[in-house]
Amino acid sequence: MHITPKLPNLGDTIFTTMSVLANQYKAINLGQGFPDFPMSEELVELVNKAMKEGFNQYTHSNGYPILRENIATKVEKLYAQKINPDTEITVCPGATYAIYTALTTILQANDEVIVFEPAYDCYHPAIQLNGAKSVIIELQAPTFEIPFDELRSKINDRTKAIIINTPHNPTGYVWTKSDMLNLQECVRGKNIFIISDEVYEHLIFDDKKHESVLKYPELFEKSFVCYSFGKTYHCTGWKLGYVIAPAALSKEFRSIHQFNAFSCDTPKQVALSTYIQNEQAYLQLGKFVQQKRDYFVELMKATPFQRIPSSGSYFECYSFANISTKSDKEFAIDLVKDFGVAAIPVSAFYKSGKDESLIRFCFAKKEDTLEAAVERLSLVSSR
Ligand code: PMP
Ligand code: GLN
Repeated sequence: MHITPKLPNLGDTIFTTMSVLANQYKAINLGQGFPDFPMSEELVELVNKAMKEGFNQYTHSNGYPILRENIATKVEKLYAQKINPDTEITVCPGATYAIYTALTTILQANDEVIVFEPAYDCYHPAIQLNGAKSVIIELQAPTFEIPFDELRSKINDRTKAIIINTPHNPTGYVWTKSDMLNLQECVRGKNIFIISDEVYEHLIFDDKKHESVLKYPELFEKSFVCYSFGKTYHCTGWKLGYVIAPAALSKEFRSIHQFNAFSCDTPKQVALSTYIQNEQAYLQLGKFVQQKRDYFVELMKATPFQRIPSSGSYFECYSFANISTKSDKEFAIDLVKDFGVAAIPVSAFYKSGKDESLIRFCFAKKEDTLEAAVERLSLVSSR
């Protein structure tokens, strides 16, 4: 049997590769982004309760109605945007799915989608699978600010969408109010959609504010805003999230969603419909994760790695330029094999594989884990 590959030469994602390697070498895994501390016991109990109460059959294709209502209440409090839970919120199996489905909803062959790089690895394949083309704008280390002049110069009649991600994986860049207003001005009056990847909305540090697209009605009119419960509630394995989009856009999104996933995990949605009302559970997240970042940064001073400061997400990138001339992939593999710590080579976030001698660490880990990892990293010596 022969299959013509739709994504030729891509292989496993870097997250699979590095996690498999980390397991194989019993390394401390600061690569793939997931916490190693337990999620809320209360939320686990709520899932158990929902299952015992019999919430085990399909729920509504658009998501458990009470969960959608409570998402709308949360969003209005946070971002002062009134969202209609019946027509504008769709619960789906994670943000990757939300992004893929949003792109599938809008793209036709040969459309162009503007992507800022480094970029989370699911964007380009989703564009390619829809017969469209990525147009890349590179963000420059160490600030990774958004180059709006370049954005303006790359927008043309074929531009169908722009993907934004704030707080940004892997750099931790957080879009400012002025960035959002600039973006709004760039797409004003144009038939260009925004896919806004906001999975790290609560993982934000140093008193910065999350500038959701939802705060900008003119932008929201053309947006699919994607969220992940996995990131907010330390349960990445749940693969549950939601997309918020204006009714006309949601209608088309749902027409695809109903023939793909149709609906997703009922008991977890029932549990989340209660737990999401606990404001503290998400409002204290930024501080909680910032403490981890600060702890990690302090520990890392004992190593030769050079920090590229992160303001959000649960990642921070470090330069190893003064340690090795190897490619970042080779360096990351050696780090697992020789020092027992896994990280993600940042070249994986560039379509071209651009290599700037950077690796990304995930610091959403117990203090013990961070200490043990950095003890190993401190054995690495500079050139
Ligand atoms: N976007 C970004 C920037 C991510 O880091 C991730 C990984 N969680 C996702 C989307 C995908 O989220 P999910 O696991 O809910 O599919
Ligand atoms: N978002 C996570 C990261 O960036 C990984 C998700 C995945 O493994 N696909 O590390």
